[in-house]
Amino acid sequence: MSGFTTRFAPSPTGLLHRGHAYSALTAFTAARAVGGRFILRIEDIDTTRCRPAFEAALLDDLTWLGLSWVQPVQRQSEHMADYHSALQTLCDRGLAYRCFRTRREVAQDVASAPHDRAIAFRSAPLPAKEEADRLARGEAFAWRLSLDAAKVTLGGFKDLVFEEEGSGPEGQRGRIPVDPDYLSDIILARKDVGVAYHLAVTVDDARQGVTHVVRGEDLFEATHIQRLLQALLNLPTPIYRHHALLRGADGVRLAKRHNAETLQSLRAAGVKPETLRRDLGFD
Ligand code: GLU
Repeated sequence: MSGFTTRFAPSPTGLLHRGHAYSALTAFTAARAVGGRFILRIEDIDTTRCRPAFEAALLDDLTWLGLSWVQPVQRQSEHMADYHSALQTLCDRGLAYRCFRTRREVAQDVASAPHDRAIAFRSAPLPAKEEADRLARGEAFAWRLSLDAAKVTLGGFKDLVFEEEGSGPEGQRGRIPVDPDYLSDIILARKDVGVAYHLAVTVDDARQGVTHVVRGEDLFEATHIQRLLQALLNLPTPIYRHHALLRGADGVRLAKRHNAETLQSLRAAGVKPETLRRDLGFD
């Protein structure tokens, strides 16, 4: 077995569609081609949107599609302690701050500064007195990354690069420098669920020994942020293979709203897994 390890990481917030099948097959086939490992990671930290029924459906769909993965299946909800410890590391290094703003307040800030995304998503720690008062009142807060502190810690972002073996949305390939325009004071831990997507993914890719991240080009910007978190947490950087997204008959990229394209509906219509695999360019 080679050291190659990749993963498919769906969130059980809806039914899988052909686009997910394409992504899962791309990762699975890449692992199989080199005798590597294929991990299925259920990204279920958003307890407000994830449903056990969707998890059951996706396991069933992927098995139907002919995929198999390292057992047992990995669930992010079982690793909250790992995310908290990474958050603690960032806090200890002065790289995170509490943000009490509501979603609506953040949206208003963004709307009022439409020309500069990086600034639009910047916030700042509150003065100590105000923060203490709000904590004393029991107000909920999220943890945000301080990009200013990150910049100081790393001496700027110019040394941050990642290897792209697939292609970004504009054909980017090879050694890609992290683009500061994609960086912001991202949320590390949400008010409601105590962690957030980028931190959990970054921790898991390292924890699970993922050497190759194979995923859709819609996550290309996310890679820039995750590369920054890897640097701040001293974690290894996988190689990335972003792939183009499948489009529906309407030319719009597939999303959970394309009900007719869900694997469940294709199966109900009598489509065979080998037919779907062939249609998607596998076998
Ligand atoms: N859970 C994410 C999604 O469903 C994928 C995360 C990733 O591949 O890094 O979009």
